[in-house]
Amino acid sequence: MYDVVVVGAGPAGSMAAKTAAENGLNVLMVEKRQEIGVPVRCAEGVSKAELANFVEIDKKWIAAEVVGAKIYAPNGAEIVLAEEHAGNEVGYILERKIFDRHLARLAVKAGADVIVKTAAIGLERKDGTVKVKLKRMGEEWEVEAKIVVGADGVESRIGKLAGIDTTLKLSEIESCTQYLMSNIDFDPDYTYFWMGNEIAPGGYIWLFPKGERIANVGIGVMPSKAKKEAKEYLDDFVDERFKDGKIVEVVAGGVPVRGEIETAVADNVMLAGDAAHHADPITGGGIINALKAGKYAGIVAAEAVEKKNYSAEFLRKYDELWKNDFGKTLRRNKILQEKILSMDDETLNKLVGSLAGKNLGEMSVRNITIHLIKANPRLLWDIKDLFF
Ligand SMILES: Cc1cc2nc3c(=O)[nH]c(=O)nc-3n(C[C@H](O)[C@H](O)[C@H](O)COP(=O)(O)OP(=O)(O)OC[C@H]3O[C@@H](n4cnc5c(N)ncnc54)[C@H](O)[C@@H]3O)c2cc1C
Repeated sequence: MYDVVVVGAGPAGSMAAKTAAENGLNVLMVEKRQEIGVPVRCAEGVSKAELANFVEIDKKWIAAEVVGAKIYAPNGAEIVLAEEHAGNEVGYILERKIFDRHLARLAVKAGADVIVKTAAIGLERKDGTVKVKLKRMGEEWEVEAKIVVGADGVESRIGKLAGIDTTLKLSEIESCTQYLMSNIDFDPDYTYFWMGNEIAPGGYIWLFPKGERIANVGIGVMPSKAKKEAKEYLDDFVDERFKDGKIVEVVAGGVPVRGEIETAVADNVMLAGDAAHHADPITGGGIINALKAGKYAGIVAAEAVEKKNYSAEFLRKYDELWKNDFGKTLRRNKILQEKILSMDDETLNKLVGSLAGKNLGEMSVRNITIHLIKANPRLLWDIKDLFF
C-alpha cells in the first residue's frame, strides 16, 4: 500500500513524487520506458527564471544558454528580441536526457521508490482506495494506493481509465517533427523561429542551439491546415537552409493545444503536465507547467492523506491551484492561437513588420501580443480585452 503512485517519470511525475515524498508520503513512481529521459520528445527550451523556481541549476543538464530570439515573418523580415528585450523569458536549452533523470533522482532522494520498464495498465477503485495494475516484461501485479498521479504524457492512459475527459480532437494536437542537426551555421546566442502558412501551416519552425554548430531544428504544424506531413515541411526547410547539415537524431510527437481542461481530477486521481494538457497552445512549451502541476499535485496529495479524503471533491483543490496559476494563460493563448490560425501570410507579415524597431520588454507571449494589438488595433481588436 502506497500513499501515492505516480505514473510517468517526466518532469510532472518526478516533481509530484518529490513533493509528495518531501511531505512525508510513501510514494512509488513507475516509468514504462527502460530509461528515464529517453527518447527525448522535446526541443528542450525553457525559461531561466521559471526553471530556477523548481530546481537548483546544474550545468550538467544545460546544453546551451541563449540571450535572445530571432523571429522571421513569411516574407523573411526579421525581428530580433535581444538580451535587453528578452529579459528572463528565454534562457536554457536543456539536455533532457540528463535533466529528467536528475529530477527523478531528486524524487528518490526525497524518499520515493522508482521502478522503470513498468507500465500502469489498469486502475480499479475499491473501498476508497485504488488498485493500480502494473506490467513489467510480461509480469503483471497490483499495488494499492490512496492517490494516483497520472503524469503519463499526452496520450495519458490514466486519464482515460479514471474517466477524465482528455480526448483531443485532430484540431487540438500540434504535430511535431524535430531533427538534432550537426554541421549547421547559426548564431548560438539566439533561438530562431520561422513563421508562414507555406513553410509551417498553423505552427512554426524552430532552431534551438545545443552547442557549436549543433541544434534542435523542428516544426509544429496543425494537421487541419497542413497539406502534407510535418516531416515533409521540415525536410523542405532544412534541404534549402542547411544543405550540409547532418541529422543525428529524429523526434516525432504531438503537443496538446487544447487549452484549459475543465478538470484534471477524479476520485483518487490527479492528472499533471501533458496528461492534463497543460502545454501552452501558442508556444507548445510544457516543461514549466508540468513542473508546476507536479508540485501542486504533490502538495494536495499530502493534504488529502492527512485529511483521509481522496474524493474528487477534495482533490479539486489541485484544480484550483493550477488554474489560478496558469489556467488563464492557457485559455487566453488558446484564443490567440485560433486567431493566428485564421491569418494569411500577408497578415502575418504585417504583424511582424509592425514590431520592427520596437522595444518589446520581456519576451512573453502576452507582452509581444500587447505590442501587436497597440500597433494593429483593427486586426486584433476582438482579442484586446484578453490582454489589457
Ligand atoms: C517536438 C516537441 C518539442 C517540444 N519542445 C518543448 C520546448 O522546447 N519547451 C517546453 O517547455 N516544452 C516542449 N515540448 C513539450 C514538453 O516536452 C512536454 O510538455 C513535457 O515533456 C511534459 O512533461 P510531462 O511530465 O507531463 O510528460 P512527459 O515528459 O511526456 O512524460 C511522461 C512519461 O510518462 C511515461 N508513461 C506514459 N504512459 C505510461 C504508463 N502507462 N505507465 C508508466 N509510464 C508511462 C512516458 O514514458 C514518459 O516518460 C515539446 C514537445 C514536443 C513533442
